[in-house]
Amino acid sequence: MILAADDEPEIARAGNLAAQWAAVRFTVGIHPHAAGKFATNPADAAKATGAVIDSQPLTRGVGEIGLDYHYDFAPRAVQQEVFRQQIRLAQQRQLPIVIHTREAEEDTFRILGEEHAHEVGGVFHCFTGDRAMAQRVLDLGFHVSLAGIVTFPRASELKEVAKMVPLDRLLIETDSPFLAPVPHRGKRNEPANVVYVAETVAALRGVDVATIGEAARANFARLFQPGYD
Ligand SMILES: [Zn+2]
Repeated sequence: MILAADDEPEIARAGNLAAQWAAVRFTVGIHPHAAGKFATNPADAAKATGAVIDSQPLTRGVGEIGLDYHYDFAPRAVQQEVFRQQIRLAQQRQLPIVIHTREAEEDTFRILGEEHAHEVGGVFHCFTGDRAMAQRVLDLGFHVSLAGIVTFPRASELKEVAKMVPLDRLLIETDSPFLAPVPHRGKRNEPANVVYVAETVAALRGVDVATIGEAARANFARLFQPGYD
């Protein structure tokens, strides 16, 4: 479960969820949409994320962090610095990062390179890039996570990405409550719908859905070390 470090009620609910569901693990970060809150001192974004890591021992990653130039809810320079500070935090804590990037490919890879983010690794979540971008992700040692968009009939390039990512770098997700996959498009998305992502990826690769499920489970366990693998 992905937590927003600047959302106190959400952080409080995480404790309740963990009490009810022993297997849950968390990532936490300041999303690029919220980076503007830290415009005067971007280092405070890493401090806020670090405070949640300190208070929630089930945290296994830093994210979502990254850049979103589609919405541009925060100035780009601020987004970049908030991203950078949180990569450094992830390195200090030895945690993988979960990257949100939209219409910001060049700056994302530049910052990941400058900050040596491959040392902690992680995942490009809800990947929507093309095959060339997927190759850059793989070359950097990161994982590619596919969401319900891959089930959309017109997502032809993403279907090609689903075929090319090595099985040991592939993750699947829903990005709930958005982006419900076929056959539930237009409704609220649910984590259970991840099975439709798995089925679509399996069909594209010509393998059994269990193969995709097992690979995603193993990759998730290796990356986030949830403790139940
Ligand atoms: Zn995202």
